[in-house]
Amino acid sequence: MDNEVSWFSEAHINKLFSHFPLPLVILDSVGSIKLLNQLFSDIFDVSVLQTEAVQAVLRRPDTNGQTVSLTKRDGANITLRARAIKVESFVVLILEMSDESSHFAELAELHLRLAELEKLSSTDRLTGAWNRTHFDKTISAELSRSVRYKQPVSIIFFDIDHFKHVNDTYGHAIGDVALRELVKIVWKNIRSSDMLFRWGGEEFVLIAPSTSYRAATGLAETLRGKVENHPIEQVGHINISLGVAEHLSGESCDVWFQRADAALYQAKNSGRNRVIVDPHGSSDLWEAETGSTILHLTWHDSYECGEPTIDNEHHRLFDLSNVLIDASFNRTAHPEVFNDALEKLLAHVVKHFADEEAILAAHHYVDLDVQKRAHVRLIERALQLHTDVLAGGVTMGELVEFLASEVVARHMLQTDKEFFPLFAAAPAKASTTA
Ligand code: GH3
Ligand code: MG
Ligand code: MG
Repeated sequence: MDNEVSWFSEAHINKLFSHFPLPLVILDSVGSIKLLNQLFSDIFDVSVLQTEAVQAVLRRPDTNGQTVSLTKRDGANITLRARAIKVESFVVLILEMSDESSHFAELAELHLRLAELEKLSSTDRLTGAWNRTHFDKTISAELSRSVRYKQPVSIIFFDIDHFKHVNDTYGHAIGDVALRELVKIVWKNIRSSDMLFRWGGEEFVLIAPSTSYRAATGLAETLRGKVENHPIEQVGHINISLGVAEHLSGESCDVWFQRADAALYQAKNSGRNRVIVDPHGSSDLWEAETGSTILHLTWHDSYECGEPTIDNEHHRLFDLSNVLIDASFNRTAHPEVFNDALEKLLAHVVKHFADEEAILAAHHYVDLDVQKRAHVRLIERALQLHTDVLAGGVTMGELVEFLASEVVARHMLQTDKEFFPLFAAAPAKASTTA
């Protein structure tokens, strides 16, 4: 990839960091120093980063940090609070020499700038599509989400036909224009959850989440037609060939890609300007399992713990989650129904956690703290996601998935199961076979 580091020297970024009112160091995900601000360099030598105390802080970002004693350039010691925060894939070390709360606005600004940097380093400069580095970061998360929620994911591999001819005839600069135009056409015709990557040269990859190979074939056919029918200035019409493959459970990313690549190769060999699909995918399997209904939470007898209030509230959490899932599919048409469902579920989660903690306390449950901590974490994460949704960084679908799958289903099936024996009056459940 072209100079991944150089964007760090961009003037506006440097300006922000050099004016940051506290000594600050930015490190990347493997701990290499990306930037030291002026204040830091004025006061400290870079070697303070190697001290055990600072290393300990760096190992635990997003905590309150700890008080450390550091040696300044002038040889004097200074005691201050060192804190590390994780922003995108970076770790920012901040040395709080004075009252920390007064720097809230600067810290918020820092978050924004680092998010911008992250985006820049993930984007192909010519076309604005995501680059391959970003693909590597994205794909495993996409795959685990697909497996966890049994939602298919497909890739469409495509390549401009006879693009060498375009360059040879009109020149490289015009070729570049065609590449940019192509990306615009594709963007106009995909969903916001679809991601377009420039794979190299005139090859692109589209990841389509929640899309089976059948749906992806339709999308690929649409893209092929849109490109064919959209004349490009000075060049005229161009065509693309496309290969489609849906992920198969258990399959490695490489094998999945080879199937898409083979399909593209076949599209090229059988005349170009066409779509070839590899007709296999996990969706076939899941469709058979679930009768093709969209994700819903299904209650099971083993989810009853025997304590009536807790059981009632768990039932209600399932119901409210299902209402929310339904409402999320009609959110555009009925946003008020969706918002109402979201509010009800969140309110019930908060009430339920409080009730559950009170009941467990009354029963002198020994691991009450574990429960409390899990509850706090889930609520914090839900609130954070909600903020992110409002800021546009996360989709509402991800929030709904988190609430239904993590807060309601998984928390109940794993963390809550731990206290179930507390209420098991008779060992009746032992007779059921698996
Ligand atoms: P095919 O239909 O088999 O794909 O033929 P093709 O000519 O498109 O394929 P080939 O791989 O032979 O040529 C790809 C061309 O894409 C050659 C290369 O110069 C051009 N190319 C790659 N990257 C860029 C770029 O960033 N800008 C421009 N203008 N051209 C590029
Ligand atoms: Mg080509
Ligand atoms: Mg090529």
